[in-house]
Amino acid sequence: MHFSPGIVYQLSKGTLEACIVCQEYFTTGFLVCSPACADAQLDSSPLVRLQEDHRAFADVLARFRNRWDPSNSAPTVTDIYAILSSARSNKAYLDYRWKIERKSKCIAAGFRPGNERLRWHGTSSNCDITKIGEGLCSSSNSCNLCDIIRGSFKTQKCLGGLYGTGIYTSSIPVKAHGYALTGGRGNALLLNSVVTGHPKLLTAHDSSLTRAPWNRDSVWVTPQGGPVKYDEVVVYDDAAIRPVFLIVYE
Ligand SMILES: [Zn+2]
Ligand SMILES: [Zn+2]
Repeated sequence: MHFSPGIVYQLSKGTLEACIVCQEYFTTGFLVCSPACADAQLDSSPLVRLQEDHRAFADVLARFRNRWDPSNSAPTVTDIYAILSSARSNKAYLDYRWKIERKSKCIAAGFRPGNERLRWHGTSSNCDITKIGEGLCSSSNSCNLCDIIRGSFKTQKCLGGLYGTGIYTSSIPVKAHGYALTGGRGNALLLNSVVTGHPKLLTAHDSSLTRAPWNRDSVWVTPQGGPVKYDEVVVYDDAAIRPVFLIVYE
């Protein structure tokens, strides 16, 4: 089994595209040509700015624009970055995905392995996001955004919510935008790869949850399901989610 070095997001095989890091070698389906290229990039920054003609750029932009509140046009996007993670971090995610796949048989049901989805997350930040490509802020700056880009999500740091102590994401960017509280300049959202497995559909709040309900792998809250306007997916395991793109907008 081959995995994209540096990032758990993959494109469908087809067009050859230059490695986003070295721009030298070509890959199909992967964003980064080799583990060595991913490691070299991680030594300086986990963020790699995407060129506008890259297929991943188009995918992320469509997920942002097309799912914004239909009554308002989406804000202007200034940059899209791929977020690279260490080989160890990505292995933990992929191992978890296969564990859930074996248990919940998502492929047989017509879904991606582990019923993996791309979902938006907004969080607080404490830096000038318009310059985030020049470097993340230091880990002493209490910046959740840079902390997640640097080391992914930690359920330990979650404060809890209507569906318990988990990591909350949505397919609707404007929903995530409500949580993207910036202390500096600019706006940003994280697009994440999330292993949702066999979800439990919840229609009522349950703030006592600290893990997925019995025999399920995540909680889904659907717009039709109750008191919420936008869908949400909640996972309760650090290994179930990795940030894969950062979108910066006005
Ligand atoms: Zn490369
Ligand atoms: Zn920051």
